[in-house]
Amino acid sequence: QAKDDGRNTVRFFTREMNAKLQKNKEILTDLTESLTQEHFELYYQPLFTIEQDTLVGAEALIRWHHPEKGMVPPDKFIAVAEKSGLINELGDWVLAQACREIKNFVNVGITDFKIAINISPVQFRRKDLLQHMLMILARHDVSPDFIELEITEGAVMDNVDQAIETMQALHDAGFQLAMDDFGTGYSSLSYLKRFPIQKMKIDRSFISDLENDDDSKSITTAIIQMSHSLGLHVLAEGVETEAQLHYLQDEKCDYVQGYYTGKPMPASAFIKKFSVSEESKYPNGKWTVSTT
Ligand code: C2E
Ligand code: MG
Ligand code: MG
Ligand code: MG
Repeated sequence: QAKDDGRNTVRFFTREMNAKLQKNKEILTDLTESLTQEHFELYYQPLFTIEQDTLVGAEALIRWHHPEKGMVPPDKFIAVAEKSGLINELGDWVLAQACREIKNFVNVGITDFKIAINISPVQFRRKDLLQHMLMILARHDVSPDFIELEITEGAVMDNVDQAIETMQALHDAGFQLAMDDFGTGYSSLSYLKRFPIQKMKIDRSFISDLENDDDSKSITTAIIQMSHSLGLHVLAEGVETEAQLHYLQDEKCDYVQGYYTGKPMPASAFIKKFSVSEESKYPNGKWTVSTT
């Protein structure tokens, strides 16, 4: 009886694994085809100062318009692309597309901003990452000053010394660096002070619990204070309510990103919302925008 159960369990897992492998293979085939046919789009989610008075940039988030399935969220295909290495080509497309759109943003008067690009751990480990990205930027005549690279703890922790070298080279070349989803990985605090990064992004999971979990409040406050004492700027991800925003304002968080202040949107919508007329450019030396 026990033996039968065991054998059934094995068979069950095998069938499930086969189904998953098959599905991933399909996704990969579709992804490859979609890359040649430009079925991808970047959405832009605005990033604001914590008082919500200044737009400082946007995070570029990939969207896949699958010819049959419609919009497929990144959670459903990034991991597959990473396993196969296709993420490198996908990442190239993301950077190139961001360059094209940065020029459009500048043309409509959105000038003092940075576009945050997510860099997969797979891309981060490429030996030629910096040269390769600089080549794409040069081809589009866009300066690294416009780009902030988002890196996760997982990308840097398995070879810290190498990662620090890569980060330093990227920063020296003019890119800003942000630690994405901070608090979910397992960065050692002793390494943190050695990382040549400029910004921490507090993971959404802490922010969404702010209102009903005192521990999340303590952690959020601790991350803000630690970031500041390390000389880093800090942004809160996934802010959905006024109460969350107020808590973060009280705790002197620097920047905010979330559905409350602005959902990710197509470039055309971003331009419509944030473009400025000639005369309202730089009203007091800084480009400001009302979000109401
Ligand atoms: P992420 O880099 O942490 O991006 C933030 C995610 O949180 C986005 O999900 C965004 O839509 C979502 N978000 C923002 N504000 C809120 C909020 O207030 N509430 C809630 N519930 N969600 C919010 P998205 O666009 O589905 O992307 C998921 C993840 O996929 C990203 O997490 C990132 O890790 C990855 N990703 C997206 N685009 C790219 C890309 O171009 N390259 C790579 N390598 N990864 C990407
Ligand atoms: Mg990100
Ligand atoms: Mg994030
Ligand atoms: Mg996150």
